[in-house]
Amino acid sequence: MTEQRNVTVEGVRLRFAAAHMATLGDEFEPLHGHNYAVRCCVDGDLTDDRWVIDFSLLKRYVREACERLDHRFLLQLDSPLLDINEDGGNWTIAFGDRSYRFPSSDVAALPIENTTAELLAEWIGGQVVQSLTAGDHGNITAIAVDVEEMPGQSGGYSRDLAD
Ligand SMILES: [Zn+2]
Repeated sequence: MTEQRNVTVEGVRLRFAAAHMATLGDEFEPLHGHNYAVRCCVDGDLTDDRWVIDFSLLKRYVREACERLDHRFLLQLDSPLLDINEDGGNWTIAFGDRSYRFPSSDVAALPIENTTAELLAEWIGGQVVQSLTAGDHGNITAIAVDVEEMPGQSGGYSRDLAD
């Protein structure tokens, strides 16, 4: 018999408001924003205290990742379609005859190819895994993150953390 326990967190503080422009095919969306909501679930073995993880700790890890995105323009640094440059404290983003210039302090520059909910979920998952590793939560065996762009519309990412 294989048993699995898990803990899930979501809620009003696990949200972020951000602007972005995703690419789709050879299109580049107009500038717009979302009030994103994040949900995170971790699987794991029970500790001696019979927890998988303290809810408040997992919330803190997810909230810290959200805070890095909140009130920022989300920039897909690894986009194969956009011409992206940083100099003089600004990011410039060009696509065809459109170009944008943002102060770097307003930008969350992310090592992802596109600012889809799926890849934002993956980035947040990576941040939470770093916190779990730093926090010595070796009993956690898997993580799943969902990022909701708007009610009824979310993208997710999950991975095993074994070994
Ligand atoms: Zn959007």
